[in-house]
Amino acid sequence: MIKSKQKKILAYKCARCFTEDADKLAWFYGSDSLYADSLLCNPCFKKMFSQLTINQKKEWGFYDKKN
Ligand SMILES: [Zn+2]
Repeated sequence: MIKSKQKKILAYKCARCFTEDADKLAWFYGSDSLYADSLLCNPCFKKMFSQLTINQKKEWGFYDKKN
């Protein structure tokens, strides 16, 4: 678990499609991802998540580890 001291968000917009009016942006991480440590909107997040490897997906709490 990485503890971040960064509380200030400089630009509240999606790093991929640059939308600024997303309801919710999620912090995306993934060692080999182009958008690691970036804020992504929901559609972009899902798209990038689907491109992760199984092992990378397992790092996410909501991913079903039984698969
Ligand atoms: Zn986006």
